[in-house]
Amino acid sequence: MNYKLARSNYRNLVVGADTKIPLHNGQLTTAINFDNAASTPPFVSVTEEIAKFSTMYSSIHRGTGYKSQYSSQLFEDARSVVLKFVNADPVQDTVIFVKNTTEAINKLSYRLWEGKKKSVILSTWMEHHSNDLPWRNKFQVDYVQTDLSGKLSIEDLESKLIKHKGNVKLVTVTGASNVTGYVNPIHKIAELAHRYRAKILVDGAQLVPHNPVNMKPKNPLHHIDYLAFSAHKMYAPFGTGVLIGPKETFKHGISEFVGGGTAETVTHDWVVWEKPPHKEEAGSPNVMGVVALVAAIKTLTALGMHNIDHYENQLTNYANSKLQSIPGITLYSQTAIGEPRIGVIPFNLKGIAHERVATILSNQAGIAVRTGCFCTQPYIQRLLSISPKQMEFYRKSVDAPRPGIVRVSFGLYNDFAEIDLLTQWLERIIKHPTTYI
Ligand code: PMP
Repeated sequence: MNYKLARSNYRNLVVGADTKIPLHNGQLTTAINFDNAASTPPFVSVTEEIAKFSTMYSSIHRGTGYKSQYSSQLFEDARSVVLKFVNADPVQDTVIFVKNTTEAINKLSYRLWEGKKKSVILSTWMEHHSNDLPWRNKFQVDYVQTDLSGKLSIEDLESKLIKHKGNVKLVTVTGASNVTGYVNPIHKIAELAHRYRAKILVDGAQLVPHNPVNMKPKNPLHHIDYLAFSAHKMYAPFGTGVLIGPKETFKHGISEFVGGGTAETVTHDWVVWEKPPHKEEAGSPNVMGVVALVAAIKTLTALGMHNIDHYENQLTNYANSKLQSIPGITLYSQTAIGEPRIGVIPFNLKGIAHERVATILSNQAGIAVRTGCFCTQPYIQRLLSISPKQMEFYRKSVDAPRPGIVRVSFGLYNDFAEIDLLTQWLERIIKHPTTYI
């Protein structure tokens, strides 16, 4: 294949892929978005569906009008679409609509919390803050190690499961890293967790938009108990996220937020709570967001998650091979051919601050990347070998320039030609580090 000429077959599926934006010199250029791990543009199908549904939009659940009943039905039916998309158990599991992955994980941490009893949560060294901080104030958290290249150590997971002697309540792990793009062997991790009588939560924020996810493969030991993900990373940026888990988890106890929609009967003396998922969705829900998510799932399913994974792998391999050849570049993720990963590539250019590289790419070439620590600071500290002592310095010196990394992350609409342009610009920046602003 002539990669230089190959355009993504998926390019026309997203809104604004060829939008013109101004460069620093005032000229217009086609925007290149290599920041899809943060958020993706909407699918055309999503905005069309939103416009179409708007004519029927109404408050849901307790309205008696035709539109309200229509909207309520659509909202409730969305749960089955989501369950099917990730092959969750349609009988045992429930889908709770939340704002995003962060809210989903906070909710689960609250619902698994046992008050004074401090059971153990096994998180990992490669987690986003959203899959670390929510656990800290409620549980004893231990972190599974990563190796020198930043990959999760399955041996350390097992030794920590043994060390905590059946006291591990949950293993919580990212499906794919938002820093290195490594894809974790979630079914192997599930098997280990279940052997030691723990459950597993997969933070699917980066995995679900790029790989097929199967919560219930044939072997019951491989089942994923809980899954969280965000619609805005899968071409439906309208404020919805998902938490999937067994209804049983949410049957007893009370949600962290209570109010309208969560109770069946209320007196000033007692409350009969709704059943899950409704008792977990306090206040008026984000109907438009859920309509958007369903439209995105339908488009992703029609394209085929395996096909998307395949195309994005080609992009990633191509980008890796191009970037590797740039003198002075350090790439922070290494995978062998065929090793699973998503299209996230972290790097630095020797002697040039990460923020400066990003600013030049934006100003001079209209290329959007992300820099810093991507809300995954302990992992970055490890990848960059930053010592606890150095971190103490940064703690006290708020204004000191911080270490960080440049990250490019692909969506299905990105092109090989865009990667060529990125490579050319990185080569120019490293050759003439002071020329550009
Ligand atoms: N986990 C991972 C791995 C992520 O990449 C992100 C978003 N960067 C989150 C969790 C949090 O997602 P959200 O901001 O949608 O809550």
